[in-house]
Amino acid sequence: MNFYIYNTMSRKKEKFIPVHKGKVGIYTCGPTVYNYAHIGNLRTYIFEDLLKKSLEYYSYKVEHVMNITDVGHLQSDSDTGEDKMQLGAERENKTVWEIAKFYEDAFFQDCRKLNIEKPSVVCKATDHIQDMIDLIKLLEQKGYTYISNGNVYYSIDKFKNYNKLAHLSMEELEAGSRVEIDENKRNPLDFVLWFTNSKFKNQIMQWDSPWGKGFPGWHIECSAMSLKYLGDRIDIHCGGVDHIPVHHTNEIAQSEAAVGHQCVNYWMHGEFLVVNGGKMSKSSGEFLTLSKIQEQGFSPLDYRYFCLQSRYRKQLAFSYSALKQARDSYNKLKDRIAAIVLSAKQDERADEELIDKYRLKFKEQIGDDLNTPNAFTVLFQVIKDNELTNKEKKILIEGFDTVFSLDLLKADNIKMEAADEDLINKLIAERKEARDNKDWSKADEIRDKLKNMGVDILDSKDGTTWKARK
Ligand code: AMP
Ligand code: ZN
Repeated sequence: MNFYIYNTMSRKKEKFIPVHKGKVGIYTCGPTVYNYAHIGNLRTYIFEDLLKKSLEYYSYKVEHVMNITDVGHLQSDSDTGEDKMQLGAERENKTVWEIAKFYEDAFFQDCRKLNIEKPSVVCKATDHIQDMIDLIKLLEQKGYTYISNGNVYYSIDKFKNYNKLAHLSMEELEAGSRVEIDENKRNPLDFVLWFTNSKFKNQIMQWDSPWGKGFPGWHIECSAMSLKYLGDRIDIHCGGVDHIPVHHTNEIAQSEAAVGHQCVNYWMHGEFLVVNGGKMSKSSGEFLTLSKIQEQGFSPLDYRYFCLQSRYRKQLAFSYSALKQARDSYNKLKDRIAAIVLSAKQDERADEELIDKYRLKFKEQIGDDLNTPNAFTVLFQVIKDNELTNKEKKILIEGFDTVFSLDLLKADNIKMEAADEDLINKLIAERKEARDNKDWSKADEIRDKLKNMGVDILDSKDGTTWKARK
């Protein structure tokens, strides 16, 4: 079955064809670690996690690379404003290195809570300065750069079709990017590859380079690290939609100029999470974190469920009442699944053909550019289908949850359903009676039921004891 991806480059849904059979290389732009990730950022990381797990459901082996931006990102993506890391350090009276470490750890903690799997490679910009210098040197040799007031700039006039990803005219791109006029730039859309002489006199992060002591611009890190870890033919590159007109446009200009051909086959962009009609922004300081919504009584997976209810290419409006609605339906779903698991019997039918019918239906939906709302519809069809045994349902749900990652079958849910010790003791007494009557299959059935509830039993000469599994 084919996997379809909406490619920002062509603005069309395309059949996915990997560079290497059975494998997929994905590069996703990671966090700038100067503050907590807000729940908008986290929506993008949930989408990328979903993409990866959906491809794995299609049996692809996924190599996922993500960068950590810990240097070079200014307030505006087009080289103006203050240095974000420096601002974080001043705000908290810490060094930039302490800030980077603290917020990187906080980011991965949020990811763990949201069941977002850690990428195969996590690479920090500050660990790849030499790779960036080498790439800038190559661009210099090829004539794509110029030096102005000590900084090294990329000259976009040298690159054909600079605007191909954004699908905007050069005038529109310019209008969108210009915040502050930079006298050093020959073209307002040119961007910095290496800063030496800038207003950041007290910049702590500095390295020697052929152009003098300084630090890299933001865009060069993603070209350098994606080429290093995934090579010059990359299957998929992702990020939020804000990256289309500047960051990814500049990355294409750098990477393609350096290697002389197209590097990325599919560009995928997640739409924004919006609050009160406006975008959530880290730099404005008004943003919601995962901890803040946890303080309001929501679990991280309530938020994951909320995100998965809509498609990644649509804007998603956040409100506590919408999140509450999602939590209610997520809880109901878990209850229904707990009831199925409790009733599933070890010796029930598990017909591969019936199971496959639903597996294919599910696969078709996630492979349709990650159509999660329809994939949930398939899950509900499975739950309601009276033709399926509970065991078949359980097998299917287990598979679907490798993509959703909502802990749909976690023992905790089932234990909650089991409610109290009375039920456990009653089942143990029934099992004893069955064993006394030498009704071994009934006794085993009860043991399985308890196991499904997350309860382990231990027989000894003094009777049966039980323990709830952690
Ligand atoms: P940053 O740490 O600011 O570089 O952003 C991390 C990721 O979050 C990037 O892929 C951004 O495109 C994405 N992003 C930023 N704001 C939002 C938002 N409100 N909703 C969804 N994604 C966002
Ligand atoms: Zn990037």
